[in-house]
Amino acid sequence: MTANTERRATAGLVPLLVAGSMVVGVCVWLAVHTGTSVLAGYIGGPVALVAAVYGCWKIGSSIMVTRPVRAFWRALSHAAVLLLIGSCVSLSLSQNNAGLSLVAAAPNVLGIVWVVAAMARLPLGDPTVLGWARTLLDLVTVAVAGTLIYWYVVLSYATAGTDLDTRIAAGTVGVLGLLALAIVGKAAVTPHAPVDSLALRLLSGAPIVGAAIAVMLIAGSAGPRLAMSVLTGPLVALSFTAAAWRQQHVLAHPPAETAKRHRTMWGLIPMLAVVTTAALVITVSSREMNDRERAVIIGAVLIVVCVVARQLLGLRENKQLLAGLRTQQAELERLAMTDPLTGLANRTRFGAALEERLAAHRAVTVLMIDIDDFKMINDTMGPALGDQLLYQVAQRLRNHSSVSSSGNDLPARLGGDEFAVLLDADDVAVAEDAAARIQLALAEPFRVGEERLLAHASIGVAVAGAGDSADEVLRNADIAMYAAKEGGKAAWVRFEPRMRQEVVNHARLGSELHNAIIRNELFLLYQPVFDIVTGRLHGAEALVRWKHPVRGLVSPGDFIPVAERSGLIVPLGSWVLREACRQLAEWKIAHGTGAIKAINVNVAVRQLREPGFVDEVAAVLSEYGLLPGNLVIEITESSVADGRQVRETLQALHEMGIRLALDDFGTGQSSLSLLRAFPVDVLKLDKSFVDGIADGEDRGRLAVAAAVAQLAEYLQLSAVAEGIESEAQLERLRDMGYRLGQGFYMAKPLPADEAGALMAADPVPVKN
Ligand code: C2E
Ligand code: MG
Ligand code: MG
Repeated sequence: MTANTERRATAGLVPLLVAGSMVVGVCVWLAVHTGTSVLAGYIGGPVALVAAVYGCWKIGSSIMVTRPVRAFWRALSHAAVLLLIGSCVSLSLSQNNAGLSLVAAAPNVLGIVWVVAAMARLPLGDPTVLGWARTLLDLVTVAVAGTLIYWYVVLSYATAGTDLDTRIAAGTVGVLGLLALAIVGKAAVTPHAPVDSLALRLLSGAPIVGAAIAVMLIAGSAGPRLAMSVLTGPLVALSFTAAAWRQQHVLAHPPAETAKRHRTMWGLIPMLAVVTTAALVITVSSREMNDRERAVIIGAVLIVVCVVARQLLGLRENKQLLAGLRTQQAELERLAMTDPLTGLANRTRFGAALEERLAAHRAVTVLMIDIDDFKMINDTMGPALGDQLLYQVAQRLRNHSSVSSSGNDLPARLGGDEFAVLLDADDVAVAEDAAARIQLALAEPFRVGEERLLAHASIGVAVAGAGDSADEVLRNADIAMYAAKEGGKAAWVRFEPRMRQEVVNHARLGSELHNAIIRNELFLLYQPVFDIVTGRLHGAEALVRWKHPVRGLVSPGDFIPVAERSGLIVPLGSWVLREACRQLAEWKIAHGTGAIKAINVNVAVRQLREPGFVDEVAAVLSEYGLLPGNLVIEITESSVADGRQVRETLQALHEMGIRLALDDFGTGQSSLSLLRAFPVDVLKLDKSFVDGIADGEDRGRLAVAAAVAQLAEYLQLSAVAEGIESEAQLERLRDMGYRLGQGFYMAKPLPADEAGALMAADPVPVKN
């Protein structure tokens, strides 16, 4: 807070203190005065009102407030001037203690009119013609009721000798006071009124005092009448200065914007006026009318009462409707923010919470969680059980979040099998610990239907940096999650900026690859597969290469994953299949029986998911005059685990007579169970088991290599050892029972003509 605003806040206090001390002073005077001169008692009024003029004028001249508010307080200071004049007149008349003359009341009446006018100019709630008409009708109702009450009740208590002037002046002040009270009340309950609501409530003290003095002057006895006469000025001034002080205070300390619910008791004031008038009419009619007239009046009043009661019921009904609407709205908002299957927060709520925490500069980490191979689970077990699994995953995330150290973690389901947790942490160790614990929580088997299922998750961890947007944090977590998937799934990976660069590179490579297919930059090499016992050429594996115009030769290890992710693998794979078949047909023509019997083609899971894949293969074979037995399709274990459709495709290919080879065998997780479920013909022992096989150092790998050979023999499959690089490896493999092998030791992937030359030549002498 600046020194200026502080000064302004205390400046409002001085007039309030002056008015307050005048009230106290006058009360003390009333208690001690002896009944002779009353002049001293009347002095408090003008002094206090000067303070009120000053207090209101101070705000009215401040450039810190908006125009309507300034105009309002200026009008109030004018009204205070008029009341000050009225109070001076009372002071001069105090000597003879006469009643209230019209002349003496005139400035007061004008003062009240001024306040009412100032109020009427404030922008109050509903500015439509209908809104104004409603306010006007309410005010007329209050004025009529006030006049009637004054006429029939107050005047009936008038002390003898009250002259007509006093009666009219007091009546005018009283009714205007009521009107002012009603309009101040209305302004005070108007939501978002420009003038502070508490200031207006404090201001309503003034009309109350006005109405009270009007009654007292007519119906009061001498003592209270005097007390009221001397106290009116100071009390009215106290109300003005208190309101002014409050307004100053609000300017210096603006309150936080809260949605206050204003109670609309004000709406009941016109009703109260109607009911009071009705009671009055009945009382008067019972005194002054004959039976028939009275019956008519009572009937009319009853109708009015019924209409009012009906109105009240309508009000109640509206309130109930409003409350119902509010509950419905709250429920709709809740539903729009919740995932219906799991009850967790949905993507919208998660994004909003993330943005909120970032905006508040709070520590934020996002864990992006994707269930590994969920598609396969969903396909094999059906969507109902898939849903059950998702529900249980959500349950575990919820449990994990409720026991987290901050207790502020927000788990959410973003869609499909993708979940996320928002952590209140920016400490890498805390974030990684949370990821590891979630992984552990999800690693426990799930009971879904009758089955016990193991479902792993890949988790991407992104700690928000300074200035990161919600989108950036989510994208980083996503990138890290994909890195976890690519790294072999069932793992968590923390985002690092270089990953973003990799994604950009992949995207660029993807668009270049698209052109590569069109511009014929792809070609095939053929790696011969040998019978390692006889040394004869047995077959060949087609391996794609990309001759990039700038980068040179790009290896499939770099561009196949990009092609798989972008879907380009489908046209690329089609091209490879056609080209390999075309080449085999050419070799057959050129080398007759010397040509290899079958060509191996690698096929990605994305291709197997294409509904027309089987037909495409059949069409290509027939186009080049080949038989199904001339083709071996190499697939990885993870494709077999992909789902029902892929399994059906593989079955159809097998039934056609095409052989299926499990590539990179031994590196997957569920090799043995797959062999039962899937019609495999060839096992290709992964190169990693061949490496180091010769020196016998790695007994584990050695055992796998030997076991695969035995398994193949037992199941009557052929086994091919991949990546043979030395004679020692070759010998060892042969000893283990391998019959077929490929590797740089025998031949690297070769251009078609070099591979063809091998078919024409004599068998390669295999070293023994
Ligand atoms: P893969 O199907 O397991 O192919 C064997 C890979 O091992 C080839 O690498 C081959 O050059 C390499 N290799 C063979 N013998 C040796 C050896 O003695 N030592 C070493 N160090 N490496 C050896 P390449 O051609 O780079 O292909 C890598 C992978 O890319 C392939 O693994 C296959 O998964 C994929 N790929 C290649 N061509 C295609 C294709 O046309 N379609 C699809 N979908 N994938 C392909
Ligand atoms: Mg292969
Ligand atoms: Mg392989």
